[in-house]
Amino acid sequence: MKVLDSAVPVACWSCSIGHNDSTLFCPHCSKIQPPPGGDYYSVFNLQPRLDLDLPALEQEFHRLSRRLHPDRFARALVNEKEWSLADTALLNDAYRTLRDPLRRTEYLLKLEGLEIGEESAADRKDRKDPSRVPADLLEEVFDLNMQLEEMRMARRIGEADPALQAGLSEAKARFAGMMQAVDQDLRAEWIIWDAGDAKARQDAQKRMVALLDRRRYLSNLVRDVTETLGA
Ligand SMILES: [Zn+2]
Repeated sequence: MKVLDSAVPVACWSCSIGHNDSTLFCPHCSKIQPPPGGDYYSVFNLQPRLDLDLPALEQEFHRLSRRLHPDRFARALVNEKEWSLADTALLNDAYRTLRDPLRRTEYLLKLEGLEIGEESAADRKDRKDPSRVPADLLEEVFDLNMQLEEMRMARRIGEADPALQAGLSEAKARFAGMMQAVDQDLRAEWIIWDAGDAKARQDAQKRMVALLDRRRYLSNLVRDVTETLGA
């Protein structure tokens, strides 16, 4: 993945005029270009930002998809045919990433060189380890894990426990609500990052990494409860 602002001018294979290497089509002769090496934003000719105009992004995606459609290259050179497929794959990846609020945030933070935690199987086992629980959730997570254990036990011996089930459903709704609060906080950080200077951006980035960690933690809790309730 390239760092930001690294658009390198390259010569078009067809008309030889130099252009920015992030374009799918030559701005001079309109011929298709090999998959560019820039980031996903540059595929859409966008500056990196977090609060995106999604209808405009979708419109541009469809416009570019149509221009890349293999039918348009039926009589083109072999290279152009191959590029239409490779460019389409790149366009699809870029669109999938940028249209999704969480993927977009993670992608931009990675572009900025930040490490975004990814969950491994070991993390899943570690989740009950108190040192990994967000401090303000310690008590609630402790209670939840007890309830989950009780529920699993009740199921094993084939016993229905409506009160326990209701308690778990309630907990699930509470944690889902916390996830929504995290999403709101993330959106507030987007605005700060988009408008901010280098220092404001750095501070916002740190807070976003922490928010994403918290969100992942909550999302795993909700998934555990859902699995246990649905078992
Ligand atoms: Zn050209």
